[in-house]
Order: sequence, then C-alpha cells, then structure tokens
Amino acid sequence: MKHAVYPGSFDPVTNGHLDIVERAIRIFDRLTIAVLTNPQKNPMFSTEDRMDMIREAVKPFHADIQVDAFHGLLVDYTGQIDASVIVRGLRAVSDFEFEFQISLMNRRLCPEIDTIYLMSAAEYTYLSSGLIREIAILGGDVSGLVPAVSARYLKQTASRS
Ligand code: ADP
Repeated sequence: MKHAVYPGSFDPVTNGHLDIVERAIRIFDRLTIAVLTNPQKNPMFSTEDRMDMIREAVKPFHADIQVDAFHGLLVDYTGQIDASVIVRGLRAVSDFEFEFQISLMNRRLCPEIDTIYLMSAAEYTYLSSGLIREIAILGGDVSGLVPAVSARYLKQTASRS
C-alpha cells in the first residue's frame, strides 16, 4: 500500500490542484490531502471551509482520498499518518527554486520520506489560488478554473467584502 500526502494551502482548491490529485491517485493506493493550518498566511477561507471544498470536489474521483489538516513540520505529520511520499505540483519555473529548497530540507530532516513532483497541466500552469482570489474579489468569472464548490464559496465571500 503506497500512501502519499499532498500538502498545501488550498485557499481555495482549484482545477490545477484537482489535476494533480487525479494523477496522484493513479500512482498511489491512498492519498491524504493535507490542508496547512497557518494563520500567518492570512487565508481567505478557514481550514474547515478549505477542507469542505476539497471533500466535495474530490467526491467524483471515487478513490481512497482522505482530507485532513496539519500544522508544524510536514515530515513529522507525514510520518504520523504513515505516508512515505509527499506529492507536490510544479508549475512554471517560479515554483522550482522554492520546491527544491523545501524538498532538500525535508530529505535532510527525514531521509525515508521522498517528494514526488507532478508537472502542472499546460492549461493550469499559470493558475494559482492567489490569482483566483483576486479575480473573484474583483467580480471576475472563475468558472472553468475552479470546481463549482470553490466558485460558490468565493462568490459568498466576495459578496461579503
Ligand atoms: P502552498 O502554499 O503549499 O504552495 P498551494 O495550495 O498554493 O499551497 O499549492 C499546493 C500544491 O499544489 C503545491 O505543490 C503547488 O505547486 C501545487 N499547485 C498549485 N496550483 C497548481 C496548478 N495550477 N497546477 C499544478 N500544481 C499546482
């Protein structure tokens, strides 16, 4: 049983994230999507809301997917849930430098856990949660870029601000 963890902020979950999930479940038997609880990042959505959006968005995949939250060191959390692989998505070159640093540090902290990178789908290479939040706040149309559940939460939140 190969168990992988896909960590991130998912603020909110986008079609770019879902593309990575869809491909990861073809490689691994079990996938835990782990939402980082980090109030310093000042997220638009609470951890619970982010988890709810992911849960609804991954339902159609009918796979062994758990949605969880974590804080602290990712390698510690990965060990606690008995996963052996970290999955991350790689977009344009801008992700590379940061991801390279983190993966080297994680390997130093815990050599048994490896990180696997899946290249972003061409149509989602320039898609980020941050960009989606900006477009939604300004009243732009995000359909086709996020699952329906994220569009719904964004609309509700944008109308309140
Ligand atoms: P973080 O704050 O950890 O970067 P994100 O939610 O922004 O959290 O991203 C989580 C993971 O998903 C990261 O590995 C990121 O590179 C990847 N990711 C985000 N958007 C996309 C996308 N459009 N295509 C592929 N991977 C993506």
